[in-house]
Amino acid sequence: MTKTIQSVRGTKDILPVESAQWRMVEDVFRRVAEAFGFQEIRTPIFEATELFARGIGETTDVVSKEMYTFLDMGKDSLTLRPEATAGIIRAVIEHTLVEKNPSPRLWCYGAMFRQERPQKGRYRQFHQFDAELLGSAFPESDVEIIALAYRILNELGLEAFELQINSLGNAASRAAYREVLLNHFRPHSDNLSHDSQQRLERNPLRILDSKHPEDAPFVKTAPLLVEYLDAESRAYFESVQTMLGAVGIPFTINTKLVRGLDYYCHTAFEFVTTRLGSQNAIGGGGRYDGLFEELGGKPTPGIGFAFGVERLMLLLEEERKLPENISTSDVYVIGLDDESRLVAMTLAHNLRAQGASVVTDVLRRSFKAQMRDADRTGVRFVAIIGEAERQNNNVSIKTMATSEQREVPLDAASVLEVIRS
Ligand code: AMP
Repeated sequence: MTKTIQSVRGTKDILPVESAQWRMVEDVFRRVAEAFGFQEIRTPIFEATELFARGIGETTDVVSKEMYTFLDMGKDSLTLRPEATAGIIRAVIEHTLVEKNPSPRLWCYGAMFRQERPQKGRYRQFHQFDAELLGSAFPESDVEIIALAYRILNELGLEAFELQINSLGNAASRAAYREVLLNHFRPHSDNLSHDSQQRLERNPLRILDSKHPEDAPFVKTAPLLVEYLDAESRAYFESVQTMLGAVGIPFTINTKLVRGLDYYCHTAFEFVTTRLGSQNAIGGGGRYDGLFEELGGKPTPGIGFAFGVERLMLLLEEERKLPENISTSDVYVIGLDDESRLVAMTLAHNLRAQGASVVTDVLRRSFKAQMRDADRTGVRFVAIIGEAERQNNNVSIKTMATSEQREVPLDAASVLEVIRS
């Protein structure tokens, strides 16, 4: 027998039962984003490799180890997007969106690609919901973004998560802290992981993100950035906290939360859960200044975040918040004999023309088998046409939940009246 072909390691099929659940979650993304005045932007799945090298940073794991990079027609280096922000900012610069609206609110949803070691909650193709609020250097935009993320988790009904925030301060605070960190790590440089040794002089903040166990003791004793915030940075951080309090969003401060890229500043935040083992981050984000310049644009502040959708789905399942068997159809139309099948087909057609979602049998099955099929699809109503119904020019409508049955005239309007009541 011919060998079957399996899906690629780290990728996942989303089968019909799940895709209905995914759509429910995607509807929440869209609805809440729109409630916050965010507009959708769709950028290409692949971009010039240089965009990510510059936009995410050469020293990050994502860029140094995890990108799916290939040569296009043997010459241009392209990369499957590992995250959404860089592509969005490229598009904003390219289409001068900030010139048209000084504070664009943008959201994006789609597949991202990273060559990570697959495990539960970590895939090579995964999905993110991403939102960016550009143009404002004021803390109200940080709170707007956090509130958008928080509202989404609320509307999904999730409870087992915590919002952690931290401040990375302004450029002056980070420069002062960098020196302190260098002095802390340098004496131990021989004992640090290879990755951290490489990062030591280039970007010591990245060491704080390290997952290598040999770095842990030195990370644990490292001085905290919050202690080196200047007055301006402290005031900014306090404003964010005051505003979060005002809109009723609970948070904790995690002084170890860093985003070790040069252009990240002030607010960094993450939504974490204790329910998904080591893959505990369901989403995160932060403020970036300097990213626009890095990508050749005019200086423009911004803040953004992304949710990992697979992790949200796992958490929803864990919290039993996912409805099972979400039916996408209103009614199943059954024809009992050859002639009735034609009538059933016409009725189905007319119902669809009026906006109803209708399933019919295409296997010429028995009444019993069609009823079983109707049950499987989870429809609320079955419309049955047999010889008796045809003679009376009627159709029997059965309500699946109660098994109650009644006859109505055989036309789409009469059927619609029942199924929409
Ligand atoms: P990041 O862009 O790394 O800040 O990731 C944002 C969110 O995307 C994380 O909090 C995760 O929920 C999710 N995420 C990142 N990498 C993966 C992955 N390989 N598989 C599944 N989800 C991921």
